Amino acid sequence: MKNRIRAGNPHKLVLGVDIGGTKVAVGLVNSRGQILHAGRAPMTARGSADQGFRAVLQAIDGVMPKARAARVRAIGVCAPGWVESERGVLLSATNLPCWRNFPLARKIAKHYGLPTRLTNDASAAALAEAKWGAGSKYESIFYVSLGTGIGTAMVREGEIYHGRAGGGCEGGHMSINFNGPLCGCGKRGCVEMYASGTAISTRARRLLRQMRNSNSQILKVAGGNISNVTAETVNKAARSGDNLATQILQEAAEHLAIWLGNLIDLLEPEVIIVGGGIGRVMTSYRARMRRTLENWAINPGAHRVPILNASYRSQSALAGAAAQWLAPTRRRND
Ligand SMILES: [Zn+2]
Repeated sequence: MKNRIRAGNPHKLVLGVDIGGTKVAVGLVNSRGQILHAGRAPMTARGSADQGFRAVLQAIDGVMPKARAARVRAIGVCAPGWVESERGVLLSATNLPCWRNFPLARKIAKHYGLPTRLTNDASAAALAEAKWGAGSKYESIFYVSLGTGIGTAMVREGEIYHGRAGGGCEGGHMSINFNGPLCGCGKRGCVEMYASGTAISTRARRLLRQMRNSNSQILKVAGGNISNVTAETVNKAARSGDNLATQILQEAAEHLAIWLGNLIDLLEPEVIIVGGGIGRVMTSYRARMRRTLENWAINPGAHRVPILNASYRSQSALAGAAAQWLAPTRRRND
């Protein structure tokens, strides 16, 4: 690709698009990583491929007048699941069943007449944090997105590690218990089954059902309805001093630490950055994670690897989608 934009000029703007299972976030991003004119629209993830694509166009159209006025030169898109960045194809994503082998980047490029790149959302978020956020002072970062699931990415010297065909660094489905519960991916005991938002709410609901007349704050925060319990409900209850909620989050933190210990031994990153919807909930148990890590990493420097919050909070992936042009990583066809 020849349409690479020079980094360093704050006047160059890229349109970033973060596609999720329920919403599409769009914004203009400058080469300092600042997000301007952000907007969002609902995503139609469970209809036809064309309905899904139209939902994305609608979200982009909301910001396009501003983008045209600012002479935006490129579009950067990110989405969850398996993405082949070099061809701009979304292979498959559990949260986007509308698409299989969908040439998303090419279709967006054709519609707006602007060069378009596509990457995985965790890779995008990692790139934004490495370039402009919590990882900007480090050479190698391991990024963890804790939300409905667990997404991961590694950035080294400004480059995302993609693996052979773009599927590398898929850490959320590393098993930490081969006798563990069956994960949606087909494996057993994936860390996602113990420390994601879904895992936390599932565990809380199961325990509340077993206990029946529980006087846990979790149930009160959820309005008395077990089906309404989310990871956020558990967090609120824990903050009000509820023992059951605290215990559930502590256990999730310990599972995370076991997994991170393995990852430090394998990759030895300079820093671990935690983002996603429940990232800050889990890093509030950092001290406990550190104690557990001592037993689950053999690297003598493991205790020195900082565990930091993502600077962009929920907007890391949006900034990172644009960062594909503003902080380009090497691609084989460049
Ligand atoms: Zn799995």
